[in-house]
Amino acid sequence: MNMILLGAPGAGKGTQGELLSKQLQIPTISTGNMLREAMANGSDLGKQVKQYMDEGALVPDDVIMSIIAERVTQPDCKNGFILDGVPRTLAQAQAIDAKGVAIDCVVSLEVEDEKIASRMAGRRVCTGCGASYHIVNKPTKTEGVCDLCGAPVAIRKDDQPETVLRRLEVYHASTEVLKDYYKAQGKLRLICGDQSIEDANRDILRALGKTV
Ligand code: AMP
Repeated sequence: MNMILLGAPGAGKGTQGELLSKQLQIPTISTGNMLREAMANGSDLGKQVKQYMDEGALVPDDVIMSIIAERVTQPDCKNGFILDGVPRTLAQAQAIDAKGVAIDCVVSLEVEDEKIASRMAGRRVCTGCGASYHIVNKPTKTEGVCDLCGAPVAIRKDDQPETVLRRLEVYHASTEVLKDYYKAQGKLRLICGDQSIEDANRDILRALGKTV
């Protein structure tokens, strides 16, 4: 099962990706997490992408494709993978197809823009492993500390309100077109992201034809 999670920033891709990864026993590949890790390590890649990420702009397609092309060939992807936050442009989707990476299903989490801003205000992300939390919808067991790895959780720099608006614009301008692209391939499944985490997860599993 090679699947893609599409959706606006804050639609719940990270949270659903973590759940699906456990349920389907395949890794989640989040380009956002990989790039944040590169920035935290101070690597060349991190320096190269910092400004784009801070501004809520897209990192160039060639940078993303070089990360992804390498990652999907790792042994842990042999039974499948979940792409979270990639592809984000038509060029990335076409490059994935051109590389012969077979995509079985594309799930788009649908949430109205008006709901995104309030969701993002409560979002927290682990500075160690990248796990997603929300102060109301998915709080950490111990305040401020990741349940999975014990590292501190923090507000993402690009979750500030002005940057969220920019990221939503970028989503509508560059990423939403992918729904048409995958619909034409018969792979698109639209899922309501404006419901509880459990209900959205149940709907995704049903759309994937997995028993719940
Ligand atoms: P995310 O964690 O998926 O919300 O991504 C955070 C930021 O990383 C985005 O706003 C972009 O700057 C960058 N980014 C992540 N994935 C991609 C991608 N597939 N294409 C371009 N930029 C990306």
